[in-house]
Amino acid sequence: MDSAGTRIGAPADLHLHSTHSDGTETPAEVMRSAHDHGMRTAALTDHDTTTGWAEAAAAAAALGMGFVPGMELSARHAWRSVHVLAYLFDPDDAAVRALTTRIRSSRQTRAREMADRLARDFDLTWDDVLARTAPGATVGRPHLADALVARGIVADRGAAFADLLRPDSDYYVALWAPDPIDAVRAVVAAGGVAVVAHPAGRGMLPVDVLEQMIAAGLAGFETGHRENREPELTRIRELVRRHDLIETGSSDSHGAGKDNVPGEFTTAQAPLTRLTERARGA
Ligand code: AMP
Ligand code: ZN
Ligand code: FE
Ligand code: FE
Repeated sequence: MDSAGTRIGAPADLHLHSTHSDGTETPAEVMRSAHDHGMRTAALTDHDTTTGWAEAAAAAAALGMGFVPGMELSARHAWRSVHVLAYLFDPDDAAVRALTTRIRSSRQTRAREMADRLARDFDLTWDDVLARTAPGATVGRPHLADALVARGIVADRGAAFADLLRPDSDYYVALWAPDPIDAVRAVVAAGGVAVVAHPAGRGMLPVDVLEQMIAAGLAGFETGHRENREPELTRIRELVRRHDLIETGSSDSHGAGKDNVPGEFTTAQAPLTRLTERARGA
């Protein structure tokens, strides 16, 4: 039971973004949308921030829906961007706060540098990016994409990501993020549960790194996600079996910012119960 007494039941969508990072809906709207799509439980997992939790928790309670506080923590292994879903950790934990503060600061510097590079070739300013980013939100490439769209330079976020914002573009700047093993350690030390987001996409982590994350306390993998593919998913499922890990499924909806629809992948009752029982944080 959460504080409002609402049961944490399946189906659950445990990966949703709001305007506190790069989603297009407020936390309350995200919860309403998950509820409208038949979810009995939803998590808010904005990038590198927990500022949306209170609003989302209140909205979920009002809807009679279970709420799992979460965050998608940025990490990096060499050139690979790695996303660690962190659930039910203590949002006041000093080490996690230090990490997310540093990541968000790097995101700010990096977004500004990317905007400056784009401004050399296009009619785009840093103010355009700020205008597309909610105050206090974790900034990311989707906000640069929205600024490009607003200026009529590209048609939509997808077109921006397909070209100007790609990692191999001259306009791309990498952000600082912790090693994924350190990221898992920090989440677990804060009483939370760590799950690798979309683990079987392009640029899957080497299995030995994943094994080290498991040794550091990684709880599971988001095997239900539209970006997962074969043969990588089979490798991930072998790890799940070998280490008896939790499998989640989620949409990674960003509202109107992506095609992903709440509830397109969901987490079943057994893994949901295991996940919540493993937490010692929030
Ligand atoms: P960043 O965190 O700044 O590197 O940007 C990555 C974010 O952009 C991820 O959270 C994705 O959800 C989002 N993203 C990636 N590809 C696309 C796309 N084709 N369309 C819309 N959003 C995307
Ligand atoms: Zn995102
Ligand atoms: Fe992600
Ligand atoms: Fe995400």
